Amino acid sequence: SQRFATPLAEVSNIIDQYENAKASSERVFGLMDIPAEVRDAEDAVELDEVEGDVVYDEVDFAYDGSETVIDDVSFAAEPGETVAFVGPTGAGKSTMLKLLLRMYDVTGGEIRVDGHDIREVTMESLRSHVGYVGQETFLFDGTIADNIRYGRFDAPDEAVREAAKAAEAHDFITSLPDGYDTRVGERGVKLSGGQRQRVAIARVVLQDPEILVLDEATSAVDTETEYLIQSSLDSLSEDRTTFAIAHRLSTVKGADTILVLEDGEVIERGDHATLLEEGGLYADLWSVQAGDLDSLPEGFRERVVA
Ligand code: ATP
Repeated sequence: SQRFATPLAEVSNIIDQYENAKASSERVFGLMDIPAEVRDAEDAVELDEVEGDVVYDEVDFAYDGSETVIDDVSFAAEPGETVAFVGPTGAGKSTMLKLLLRMYDVTGGEIRVDGHDIREVTMESLRSHVGYVGQETFLFDGTIADNIRYGRFDAPDEAVREAAKAAEAHDFITSLPDGYDTRVGERGVKLSGGQRQRVAIARVVLQDPEILVLDEATSAVDTETEYLIQSSLDSLSEDRTTFAIAHRLSTVKGADTILVLEDGEVIERGDHATLLEEGGLYADLWSVQAGDLDSLPEGFRERVVA
């Protein structure tokens, strides 16, 4: 086909791809196994300037309207703070993130960003302020540069390269057959999980959102790549309000607030030192970690020894 015959065709192609991808925006955020059924309210407003102040106010949620998955969760994050969710499998960590990205609407209470109930703002403007990096990164058919530019369509080449460098992606990209012009996606070069993750990070660097949603869950990468990814994520989250499903104890230790979830409820909260002092579940898990890594439940296992 004549996909990239002229620069203009190329631009419209990217826009088409964008529109298509937006139609299934759940894939962009990678978290979703189910299509978002959430729609803009009739009178939804644009969320323009955002500081990154996020409040969960007595939030309840049930996927199918019966079984409660999130039960009366309240907390607040100030601009730039990091909140880490820990807890056993099925505790509701991913669900907490999905609610902020508005993949689903709360069934009780509300979530506010800079004082706005997120059900009252447009999805597009909400998501422009919330960056997501997780295990599954959606790549569309197009060049690797197009895929990074998904974070900001008008970004010049130089900005794309800078973003890739910040994401530790520049070196692998320049080693591909056509560098930044290499086709990826379903009909292009297959990237590894770690490479896709770095493309996702580059997108978010370009997007420059005030709020970052991070699912640290494992992808099969070697220790060195893991280390590179983590250090770029650390700098990415530095000045942004960050919500992380933490799989590394270093993330948990550095968080302003740790929320320990069990069966959809917050059973402990505080920073690392406070929770250790309290001597509850978190402290138990921490002391176990020191002696016996394998006995840890998922979500507490240190994967990188940096
Ligand atoms: P993990 O550490 O295993 O990823 P988690 O703490 O992130 O777990 P969630 O994925 O948020 O937990 O799941 C919380 C509960 O909601 C679980 O009981 C899960 O089975 C249920 N659940 C998750 N996704 C859906 C869905 N799409 N439809 C119905 N129930 C779901």
